[in-house]
Amino acid sequence: MHRIIYYERTDSTNRRLKLLAPEAENGLTIIADEQTDGRGRLDRKWLSGPGEGAWFSVLVKDSRLSGENAAGMVFVCALAAARALRKLTGREEILVKWPNDIVMNGKKLAGILCESGFEGNRPAWIVCGIGINLCQTSFDPSIPWAGSVLSETGLRIDRNETVHAFLEEFDIAIRQYLESGPASVLKELEPLSATLGRRVRAQGEQMTVSGTAVGFAEDGSLLIDTGHGLETVRVGDVSVRGIMGYV
Ligand code: ADP
Repeated sequence: MHRIIYYERTDSTNRRLKLLAPEAENGLTIIADEQTDGRGRLDRKWLSGPGEGAWFSVLVKDSRLSGENAAGMVFVCALAAARALRKLTGREEILVKWPNDIVMNGKKLAGILCESGFEGNRPAWIVCGIGINLCQTSFDPSIPWAGSVLSETGLRIDRNETVHAFLEEFDIAIRQYLESGPASVLKELEPLSATLGRRVRAQGEQMTVSGTAVGFAEDGSLLIDTGHGLETVRVGDVSVRGIMGYV
């Protein structure tokens, strides 16, 4: 069960939910019609105009969360978002770009940002933020690789239906994650991955790794075959881009 709080306009659904997280119950979900200060990883901006997308955040509180498995929550979200969008549109070209984007036709349809609050060495809560572009027909010139469900599939899908489809898949994926471990969720992501088998460049602050993405490590790190050996790049350390474009 997910209790839902709805805002017509807020700064960021993640920021709102983080304020409530210490006292709130598992599953609490915040949806906004518009975010005025939506964020991606590394404090990058997430453009989320009024009525244009499904901008929402879900709270996870569970005693089985640990310092080790917390970083993998992004994969639970990615799997749920890809499955929900495939179900709603019937389009199997909807894929997951490692680690946190949903893509179609080389365009970014959705992004995910998970943030946690630790008590000692275990997360007391994780806020999972999801932004799904639903009906934009044009984007800011600074993000030429952005796309929406409408621009890529020609379909208009309802915002609330999208959130509910996500939550249904999320509840299934998180149960699997907590009961069977990250590896079982990563296995399910493999056939949905836009990254595996591609030539990619992982750009971190200190380093760049180029090569072919060949697999996921047990913790979800991306394994890149550089031609001189395998390099492991961890979630959070890098931005991954295709050699030939965004994906
Ligand atoms: P990265 O793809 O490098 O991991 P993030 O997942 O953190 O980046 O997402 C933030 C980035 O997404 C921004 O820097 C911007 O380039 C892009 N962006 C911002 N708003 C949107 C949007 N509505 N749709 C698609 N991409 C967006």
